[in-house]
Amino acid sequence: MLSKKLSSVTPSFTVGISTKVKELKKQGQDITNLSIGEPDFFTPENIKEAAIEAIQNNLTKYDAASGVLELRQAICKKLKIDNNLDYEANQIVVSSGAKHSITNILMAVLDPGDEVIIPAPYWVSYPEMVKLTGGVPVFIDTKKGNSFKLQPEELKDAITKNTKAIFITNPSNPTGTVYNKEELKMIVDICVQNDIYILSDEIYEKIIFDKEFTSIASFSKKAYDLTITINGLSKSASMTGWRIGYTASNLELAKAMGSIQGHLVSHPSTISQWAALEAVENCEEATQDMVKIYRTRRDLIIELFKEIPKLSIIKPDGAFYFFIDISQLKDSLDYKDSLSLKVCDDLLEKQKVAFVPGIAFGNDEFIRMSYATSLENIKTGLDKLKKYTESL
Ligand code: PMP
Ligand code: GLU
Repeated sequence: MLSKKLSSVTPSFTVGISTKVKELKKQGQDITNLSIGEPDFFTPENIKEAAIEAIQNNLTKYDAASGVLELRQAICKKLKIDNNLDYEANQIVVSSGAKHSITNILMAVLDPGDEVIIPAPYWVSYPEMVKLTGGVPVFIDTKKGNSFKLQPEELKDAITKNTKAIFITNPSNPTGTVYNKEELKMIVDICVQNDIYILSDEIYEKIIFDKEFTSIASFSKKAYDLTITINGLSKSASMTGWRIGYTASNLELAKAMGSIQGHLVSHPSTISQWAALEAVENCEEATQDMVKIYRTRRDLIIELFKEIPKLSIIKPDGAFYFFIDISQLKDSLDYKDSLSLKVCDDLLEKQKVAFVPGIAFGNDEFIRMSYATSLENIKTGLDKLKKYTESL
């Protein structure tokens, strides 16, 4: 009796594994969790206080479908200062997390059968979101030798007359790869020539080490018109549970998304939006403190992997993930369908450490590690991983 759409949609691996870990921990099991991409920091105090103040001031009523005006204005200022982008408040739509923003975009632009290009490895939810909104995901397997960056020729080959949009995630989840300006420009030029919407997921924009971040919409007027910039506060302000994301786009799209959202959820929680206003205006120092800590962890992990010769990694320049090459374990393991599932199941069962199988991101020869967790957990988790590879 369920909709046919659901027959090809799988539950979120990232959310699923982390829920399983929480259950096992409740049962008393000592699990090291390197799975979920959720900052291990508390939401900064000033942001929490802004929420409490909003409640006390009775800012708890319905508001504009596209989001509280003051927040949209603050987002415009942020986009100008950080990204050199000019937007008016009516081009911003605030939603319940970037997940919701992406769903709004897809609902606004896709007709049944429209193709959406998704470079793999990709963030776990993109293909399912595309399928749920009537589109067809088209994957491009990017190469480890290219640091998993999409190459212009690969993109040209994947474009058809049905191509409507492409996802670009920069910095990338799950690989931590960061595109430089020239690399991005080559991709953007092809999208512009072919009139393809660019869904630019910039949620890890602030979590970047030594590299310069470029916002895709800043390349040209045409790029600006075709790009929907996706961002949110889950990562930069450690506000995962508050559920605030946003889009910046051309006015036509923003109106369409506002109207979709108005019918489906009205708008995200007003209390979260007032807290988000404080986060957008006054969180840079706290974010940079977190980034410093992520960098220390990343550098330590690179050292620790030198002691695990059977596994290889690419140094990530952003986000808080390592995508770990497990292909050398293939011959030592007895598995049916999926190598990465087998490895992650073994690791959880035998070593009590949780990773996310690469198959969830479209590459079965890898597993993903999140280092949004303490140094102690990282050391324990990688020690368990080492023991596992030595046992094979
Ligand atoms: N995009 C990417 C690349 C992500 O990793 C995530 C996961 N947080 C999201 C979007 C969605 O984030 P949220 O819905 O918490 O804003
Ligand atoms: N984006 C994070 C991750 O990839 C959080 C979980 C999710 O939203 O999928 O782990």
